[in-house]
Amino acid sequence: MAFNRSGQAAPFEKKVWLSSPTMHGEELAYMKDAYETNWMSTIGENINCVESTTCERIGCGHAVALASGTAALHLAVKLAGQELYGRPEGGKGTLVGKRVFASDMTFNATVNPILYEGGTPVFIDTERDTWNMDPDALERAFDLYPDVKLVVCANLYGTPAKLDEIKKICDAHGAILVEDAAESLGSSYKGRQTGTFGKYNCISFNGNKIITGSSGGMLLTDIAEAAALGRKWSTQSRENAAWYQHVELGYNYRMSNVIAGVIRGQYLHLDEHIAQKKAIFRRYEEGLKDLPVSMNPYDAENSVPNYWLSCMIIDKDAMCQQDRGNTEVTYVKTPGKSCPTEILEAIASINSEGRPIWKPMHLQPIFSGIDFVTVSGDTGADIFARGLCLPSDNKMTPEQQDRIIEVIHMCFE
Ligand SMILES: *Cc1c(COP(=O)(O)O)cnc(C)c1O
Repeated sequence: MAFNRSGQAAPFEKKVWLSSPTMHGEELAYMKDAYETNWMSTIGENINCVESTTCERIGCGHAVALASGTAALHLAVKLAGQELYGRPEGGKGTLVGKRVFASDMTFNATVNPILYEGGTPVFIDTERDTWNMDPDALERAFDLYPDVKLVVCANLYGTPAKLDEIKKICDAHGAILVEDAAESLGSSYKGRQTGTFGKYNCISFNGNKIITGSSGGMLLTDIAEAAALGRKWSTQSRENAAWYQHVELGYNYRMSNVIAGVIRGQYLHLDEHIAQKKAIFRRYEEGLKDLPVSMNPYDAENSVPNYWLSCMIIDKDAMCQQDRGNTEVTYVKTPGKSCPTEILEAIASINSEGRPIWKPMHLQPIFSGIDFVTVSGDTGADIFARGLCLPSDNKMTPEQQDRIIEVIHMCFE
């Protein structure tokens, strides 16, 4: 049990989540529309509407509504693989025997689609300015593997990567960029929305994202034929015939019109959610400024993040000893110092949810033996060791956030 400075036990009555769905009412009205008109399948007005809204909002030519962001990434990677290496025989993966460069410090959904297509990821280390793919490490990877033609880059926690530099390196090597904008819907880089920098891109409407359909995702591209092909693959690759005729491997990846109703309602509140997340970030920044920590960084000159998750990193010399095994962790309580584990325990003790930084892919047992390219030692491992995600829920009140800030202070006493 944790105590606040006045010595009272102070857990929140209602849990403060890391990032949970925030509904407003319109979602229900659009879902009800689907129900009352009986468009309860994967066709309907809600789907059409969220696709066109996405194109307008993000400035992409085409959006294909799908069951998840992972499905969108799978189709994005498959479109790229087929374009680069041709359509494989017998429905095999498009990337069999091929290497693909991928972000390292990200959610595993960024890289799994490479494996679905039979490819081998090569993980590219993280830079310190935005906690995303390090362009210098990417350049080095192309020196090591000049034949690679596909790069999958994520924008972590809503912060745009150094997208211009990454795009330039991809272009110089004739490689296709796939942008994983699952966490960064509404963020922009040099005035352009994320999700438009790659040839094929994805966004997600998973339950913890900036807006949600409870689930859902979209494939984004400017290429009409690619969007049409993705749409076809997502609905079991049916050919235009009276019977079920199949030339290509198919998937059941299309979005439901009910889910699309939720997303349609949520889109009305995207800017509001971003404003709330930004206020949360600023409050942490202010509240933690006297501690030996800093917030997750972004390029203030060139980018506008959506502030999806507020994170912090502890200064090196303010870290107490923390030992992480594969699934267990210990630390040594030390005056004046702390570590993510201690802080996460303190946050949890007041009925609130933080989370460690997404554990880098090259440290995951499933990917042991897979290549990792760095120019800085191992920045991803360092951020993972010293960083953490703070409770960032839209519905958290300033008073609740102040208490979270208070228990973080207590960890450094
Ligand atoms: C959430 C997420 C995804 C996957 O989206 P789902 O809709 O959950 O399948 C992909 N990449 C990143 C970086 C994510 O955070």
